[in-house]
Amino acid sequence: MVIEVVRIGQRVVRDDRVTTHVALVSRAFGAKKIFMTEVNPEIKDTLGKINKTWGGDFEVEFVEKWKTVIKTKKDENYKIVHLSMYGEKISDVQEKIGNEENLLIVVGAEKVPREIYELADYNVGVGSQPHSEISALAILLDRIQKGEQFEKVFPNAKRKIIPTKTGKNVQVKETRD
Ligand code: SAM
Repeated sequence: MVIEVVRIGQRVVRDDRVTTHVALVSRAFGAKKIFMTEVNPEIKDTLGKINKTWGGDFEVEFVEKWKTVIKTKKDENYKIVHLSMYGEKISDVQEKIGNEENLLIVVGAEKVPREIYELADYNVGVGSQPHSEISALAILLDRIQKGEQFEKVFPNAKRKIIPTKTGKNVQVKETRD
């Protein structure tokens, strides 16, 4: 399954940290790429540094228009999953979504345009209370991959954590840049 994420319409500057965390969760929970609109270019550098240290080739792409991404992905047979507290219950659709081939997950920052609800193949609520795109995304990614995302290996990492009961155990691979 290929999973990509698009975050639409952040509140300029104020949301930089949240946007970075949406990207970090996407990467750590098995997505391949995130598309973003209206963001600080430093976020791309931050994720680039994370890839260099912790491995993998998670991609960040800045886009002018979120609608173009959704339409292009629909043409490529991706299913569009829009996270919204108004959507249907996650427990009712997680199985079906988990069996789809390719997914584009849409999260908002503030009020999202009405049109997204119609463009989406699934409007999914992680509970019916307002909370955060970071938590909604993490829970959806975990439910549809059933925890398997944490077995994924991030290739070419300079640092690799060996999980331990106490303390820290980090393997460091020396490489020449
Ligand atoms: N009032 C906004 C609205 O009506 O869209 C909510 C904005 S919320 C801070 C930002 C994003 O978090 C939403 O666009 C949605 O993607 C996600 N989100 C928040 N609560 C959610 C929930 N209960 N279920 C699914 N997604 C949620």
